[in-house]
Amino acid sequence: MKKTVTALALSIGMLLPFASYAKNNVVVVATGGTIAGAGASSTNSATYTAAKVPVDALLNAVPQIQNLANVTGVQALQIASESITDKELLTIARKVNELVKRPDVNGVVITHGTDTLEETAFFLSLVVHTDKPIVVVGSMRPPSALSADGPLNLYSAVALAAADDAKGKGVFVLMNDDIFAARDVTKTINIHTDAFQSQWGALGSLVEGKTYWFRNIAKRHNNSSEFNIDDIKGDALPLVQIVYGSTNMLPESYLALQKAGVKAIINAGTGNGSVANYIVPTLNQLQQQGIQIIRSSRVPQGFVLRNAEQPDDKYGWVVAHDLNPQKARLLAALALTKTKDAKEIQRMFWEY
Ligand code: ASP
Repeated sequence: MKKTVTALALSIGMLLPFASYAKNNVVVVATGGTIAGAGASSTNSATYTAAKVPVDALLNAVPQIQNLANVTGVQALQIASESITDKELLTIARKVNELVKRPDVNGVVITHGTDTLEETAFFLSLVVHTDKPIVVVGSMRPPSALSADGPLNLYSAVALAAADDAKGKGVFVLMNDDIFAARDVTKTINIHTDAFQSQWGALGSLVEGKTYWFRNIAKRHNNSSEFNIDDIKGDALPLVQIVYGSTNMLPESYLALQKAGVKAIINAGTGNGSVANYIVPTLNQLQQQGIQIIRSSRVPQGFVLRNAEQPDDKYGWVVAHDLNPQKARLLAALALTKTKDAKEIQRMFWEY
């Protein structure tokens, strides 16, 4: 009996080191962007063509990722992210959804242009039901540039996607050693490598292939979301567009969108989502004709207060809370797949 126990303990002891080194499987979904860009020379850090390098070359350029996980790649798109439409967004979401459902996939990385990276990340956090880590990563310099930031960003993104302690924490944006929550990260500088920030701070840091966590997100996402990519048919979402606020606005900007068939307008208002007094009647007219009016702000920090700058209850308008206009556009589009009720849409803006 004693011998059997000793033998058992020995064999467990021998197996343990292997068990702890068993690597997770991570799939990199490549979509283009600067991280796959190419410039004419190594000093071209800002002048280059995005979306040139195929996924295999991206992965082979950072062989160290294979020490972190068993990494394979799929080329979903090859596009500069400013050209992404609902069609491409849905293609990415469906691809990621298909991958996370596979039992042999532990995490997914999406390489993406930085221009609209935050939008894709937020959308994935709303529609993909999983607790597996999903990491969206880009770079500010193309791989051909001196001090390209893509290789380390990719390395860290794979480390994050493979990290067991990243499970259930949502969709991340990994840039410049920071781990951000998809819902509140935004691109704040268009020229430096520390381009992404969140007004609520990063969730954590990724240093030398290890995660360091500092906070969790308080809002609904992924498994707790009421939206699901499986329920979305076709390759377009309900049409929602943004009008940017300034002095000297024209009602025609909103009326043109009505003609184009919008179902909601995100007003990226001045200050606390303010609307000029001479624009209010146009917005109320559109609201009465069934177009949702959603007040966001052109100010990058803070949040829009309901019934403060405008009597939202009286007008039947919605406030976007702390979502920036481009993220408000996506939540509004998803909300409109479920309801036309402004109160119900407002509930969603409080919860996501
Ligand atoms: N325009 C590029 C893109 O979004 C910029 C980048 O990736 O940094 O695809």
